[in-house]
Amino acid sequence: MRPTWNDPELRAGTKIKVALWLLDEVGEGNFFTKAQLREAFPGVEQVDRRMRDLRANGWVINTNREDPGLPLNTLCFVRAGDAVWDPRARRSAPQEISSKERAAVIAADDYMCTVCGIAGGEEYPDSRRGETAQLSVSARKETLEDGSVEQRYVTQCKRCKAGGAQEAAPQLQDVLTALDMLSAAEREELAQWVRRGRRSPRRVEQLWTEFRRLPSGSRAFVADRLRHRP
Ligand SMILES: [Zn+2]
Repeated sequence: MRPTWNDPELRAGTKIKVALWLLDEVGEGNFFTKAQLREAFPGVEQVDRRMRDLRANGWVINTNREDPGLPLNTLCFVRAGDAVWDPRARRSAPQEISSKERAAVIAADDYMCTVCGIAGGEEYPDSRRGETAQLSVSARKETLEDGSVEQRYVTQCKRCKAGGAQEAAPQLQDVLTALDMLSAAEREELAQWVRRGRRSPRRVEQLWTEFRRLPSGSRAFVADRLRHRP
């Protein structure tokens, strides 16, 4: 569902608010002036620029430069583009994600690779050269429960992004045999990951990444608590 542009609860940047304002107040195919835009966002700096940023998301907003028939300072909201208010289904071009959005995706994924679960900066357990995980955000097409396909931004480590570890692929029969030896709880957990197409971190793993992000003084407190409170 699309939020309304002037909803006081809406926590979004100017670009998103401008997109919603265009849809709510102007409407596709209609005209507006720069003065109206500035009036809607009093005191907001560079509101024109934030509006222009929407073009990178496929929004078509013409000035008299694009459409010489338009009077100066009059703009035409031709067509809406991507649903920029939806953080996970935002853009078609993954390289256009801003560093702020990238940070938000990584935080939402608990600073862990959604494929193998390694935390950023952590050493790969099988690495002989002490290779550490570098997290990045990439667009991944996911099939939703209703069968539709949606592009989402997910956190992946460099290795998983490149197509996984360098070793040979596991044998199906070995995987099935190991599967049969899992406990009921482990089977259910794995079934959930398979259904969701991603690995959900356990609470203890989330705490591990939180621990790693604490300043060293605070980490000493955690270590001490672990030693003294069973
Ligand atoms: Zn990974």
